[in-house]
Amino acid sequence: MSYNADKKGYYGEFGGAFIPEMLYPNTEELRQNYLRIMDEPSFKKEFDQLLKDYVGRPTPLYFAERLSKKYNTKIYLKREDLCHTGAHKVNNTIGQILMAKKLGKHRIIAETGAGQHGVATATVCALMGIECVVYMGEIDIARQAPNVARMKMLGAEVRPALSGSKTLKDATNEAIRDWINNPVDTHYIIGSVVGPHPYPDMVARFQSVISEEIKWQLREKEGVENPDYVVACVGGGSNAAGAYYHYLDVPEVKIIAVEAAGKGVHSGESAATSALGQMGIIHGSKTLLMQTQDGQITEPYSISAGLDYPGVGPMHAHLFTSGRAEFISITDDEAMNAGLMLTKLEGIIPAIESSHAFAILDHKKFEPNDLIVINLSGRGDKDLDTYIDYFNL
Ligand SMILES: *Cc1c(COP(=O)(O)O)cnc(C)c1O
Repeated sequence: MSYNADKKGYYGEFGGAFIPEMLYPNTEELRQNYLRIMDEPSFKKEFDQLLKDYVGRPTPLYFAERLSKKYNTKIYLKREDLCHTGAHKVNNTIGQILMAKKLGKHRIIAETGAGQHGVATATVCALMGIECVVYMGEIDIARQAPNVARMKMLGAEVRPALSGSKTLKDATNEAIRDWINNPVDTHYIIGSVVGPHPYPDMVARFQSVISEEIKWQLREKEGVENPDYVVACVGGGSNAAGAYYHYLDVPEVKIIAVEAAGKGVHSGESAATSALGQMGIIHGSKTLLMQTQDGQITEPYSISAGLDYPGVGPMHAHLFTSGRAEFISITDDEAMNAGLMLTKLEGIIPAIESSHAFAILDHKKFEPNDLIVINLSGRGDKDLDTYIDYFNL
């Protein structure tokens, strides 16, 4: 069995491209060209150069000694928190802005929820001097003022989505409407391994640099390429896809995916898609999705904005149903405490998304000789107010 996308963008029974007819020319142009462009030496050279000099790659693979001692096993952290802009998302936006240039596009649009993907997109648009419009729900604009300010400072126009619940899904609808109206000059940068084919596959390939580095870094440090476990949090699933990518077809590497259980899987306030989701279509892709009996998408909840998504990308839906990955749900409380623990033990304040991945250490028993790589997807600066409120600091 393969865990990568087939030619039509299917991961098992998940994926594909379920889009309105009027969007077909846009995705088709991308589909026909993305693999060829990513394979061009000039593309690879510029991508690698920017990852090195601008993003700061390779990010370290750090042996967490005190954390390892506490859990009596060997734990390495992949330090995506040290990427420029503070998380892995920029790996993808760098790749897509270069893709847009190769396709002759001179205008970028994006959707954003909490603003992290909007900032990563506005950053690469500033870098390239390309016009940037970010759609964001009106409610999110009010909730996420610092990221709105960052995007504006970077030269992006932030357009409020005023319909529906005025959050991420409405911003996505506005972005799609824009793309339909501007098929020739505009590229739509999607922020995770979601959306219609070829986005999940393209974004996974851009993020796959994470596991490409883990392989040689682990060989350098431990003399082996393969850890026993690779662990990552899953919102849409892009940091996880990057961390798993080169291990997908290596069965001896066990894959752990960590979802947000919010206030509890069955509390009605959660984002635990694998536990609660059923097959459905969201953002042009067939995948697991939290929905009501008559198919209305359920409003997700998590204390971390980046995991607050009602679905997962099709790769992860397939990893779950095939049993290739073990899915663990972590509550807000467990994640917050794990974030504080990492801070105290290692001097690293993680993004609350990443804190979820560390909380599994209290759920699962590992052997002293196990090699565990945890993807530290981002840093916690953006979450300071949430930590302060939660712990009364
Ligand atoms: C956005 C974000 C996530 C969730 O997105 P994925 O596509 O699932 O990786 C996780 N961690 C951080 C730090 C983020 O900013």
